[in-house]
Amino acid sequence: MDNIKNKVVVITGASSGIGKETATLLAEKGAKLVLAARREDSLKEVAQALESNYSTEVTYKKTDVTKQKEVEELIDFAISTFGQIDVLFNNAGLMPVSMLRDGKVDEWEAMIDINIKGALYGIKYALPIMEKQKSGHIITTDSVAGHFTGEGSSVYSATKYAMRAVMEGLRVEEVGKGIKSTLISPGHAQTELANKISDPQLREAVLKSEAETGLSAKDVAHAVVYSIDTPDNVGINEIILRSINQRDY
Ligand code: NDP
Repeated sequence: MDNIKNKVVVITGASSGIGKETATLLAEKGAKLVLAARREDSLKEVAQALESNYSTEVTYKKTDVTKQKEVEELIDFAISTFGQIDVLFNNAGLMPVSMLRDGKVDEWEAMIDINIKGALYGIKYALPIMEKQKSGHIITTDSVAGHFTGEGSSVYSATKYAMRAVMEGLRVEEVGKGIKSTLISPGHAQTELANKISDPQLREAVLKSEAETGLSAKDVAHAVVYSIDTPDNVGINEIILRSINQRDY
């Protein structure tokens, strides 16, 4: 397939990991990109590197997805820059797993704000534009933790289960309107995500699993790109991918 060139793709969480690798693969294939995250220096660095390596346009906007206004401004920026949005990749995420008994309310709320509300804000502002265009594609990075709950992952899993419900709702509500809904559910992947786990034992366990059995961010990015590079009438609704060496959920 060659259905990526000149598509306008907005990526949240593009400053590192899966978002950054997806941006790289898409730039190689000639997509026009709007990169978003909070670390502006990293976004600038990624955008400049991609523009100098590939002949496509890459812009960026500092965005905190927990702030509704900033997500609205991101979508406005994409439209004022490129005039359309073909794909919104809701990828920003946080995974400070912990035991329920430890009651880490601040971390629970941060995950709910980023993983669920941040993605919903993206849908709120991008979907009306896509409906007007009569085409568009919303992709959300979920997780195998959105299908199974392990020790310590209750709230993280809850946010990912929630997005599974939202993305299936998006699919059924938009049938016949030219809008695609895709959920990407990776297993362990070697990114910065686990560094923010505050429980030292869980952090060590997750980092060890990722090091031993993790996918690379690029492996996951290939799945995202595959879902974009499909004929207009084909929706890839869900992809679950793990390293062949990952045994646990
Ligand atoms: P990273 O930590 O490398 O990437 C997370 C990205 O989210 C960063 O670019 C970060 O940028 C951004 N982000 C975090 N908070 C906010 C915020 N409030 N506003 C805007 N951007 C934000 O990890 P991954 O690449 O692994 O994570 C990407 C997605 O993949 C997440 O949704 C995660 O849940 C999911 N996932 C990851 C797995 C793994 O094992 N790594 C497995 C399954 C799913 P910045 O700090 O600059 O804002």
